[in-house]
Amino acid sequence: MPSSFINSESAPTGTSQLAALRRLFDVLRSCRLCPRQCGTNRREGKTGACGATLLPRVASANVHHGEEPPISGERGSGTIFFSHCSLHCVFCQNWPISQKGVGEVITIDALAEKMLELQERSVHNINLVNPTHYWPQIAAAVFLARRRGLTIPVLGNTNGFERAETLELVSPFVELWLPDIKYDSARTAKSCSGAALLPHATWRAVGWMLKHAGPLQVDDHGIATRGVLIRHLVLPERLDESRLVLRGIKRRFGQRTPLALMTQYFPAYRAHDKKGLHRHLSAREKQRAERMLLRLGLAQGWRQIDG
Ligand code: SF4
Repeated sequence: MPSSFINSESAPTGTSQLAALRRLFDVLRSCRLCPRQCGTNRREGKTGACGATLLPRVASANVHHGEEPPISGERGSGTIFFSHCSLHCVFCQNWPISQKGVGEVITIDALAEKMLELQERSVHNINLVNPTHYWPQIAAAVFLARRRGLTIPVLGNTNGFERAETLELVSPFVELWLPDIKYDSARTAKSCSGAALLPHATWRAVGWMLKHAGPLQVDDHGIATRGVLIRHLVLPERLDESRLVLRGIKRRFGQRTPLALMTQYFPAYRAHDKKGLHRHLSAREKQRAERMLLRLGLAQGWRQIDG
């Protein structure tokens, strides 16, 4: 663990959470947080294949109203957007942040304070966008923030490129999971996100999340308190991939698995270099995706039609 965290007057003592934090920070010595397991010594400040080093880099911390209704509710979701990424999606809509690392380096202590500031703004949850490569630092910040009064649920809003071994250590610090399931085939994953391993890793990680946290649970006001909500973004000219993903969700996790189908794709970053990704979804493709969902009976969910 970084000495600044160990020496903090708020440093935890003698808890199983502290043991999990120590193990998470140990992983950074030869980083294997995500399925790339690139082995970078981030404790010495080296830069991993994701672009991340030791301290977290944050692009923004704000109230967001555009998530699914149980996440945003009326008061919004307290979104913290992390820079860099373990994936390299050619169509990334946030590429300056994910691929170019736009954002500011902050301490774990400052990250904890950002969480508390968002809670002060009455948000329903702390929404960690793209947290995978900073799980140890985030877990430590959640630990500190809770000791200082953070009570709202913490949400892991992840690209799905996760290791169940890492999630196991992170689990005491996260109540809600919002994973993407992007692809089922390794070939598409390699071509579009630079990670052939992604589908295998995602199925395993989402299986772990559902087993550990269960499907999405809401309170009397319809606000998420715990559990998993899967997201799938439909890509142009790749409806067969969506069919495989939706069928896979039904077969592996059941028909009532909470799911948000997203059809608001727009081309960004290097999307123009890939066949089909240079355009929005056609009306016909949107209808086909909707029909797939209905035919499979995956009715527990939301559709994000326009972004
Ligand atoms: S999180 Fe980054 S540094 Fe760690 S294994 Fe993944 S790519 Fe490598």
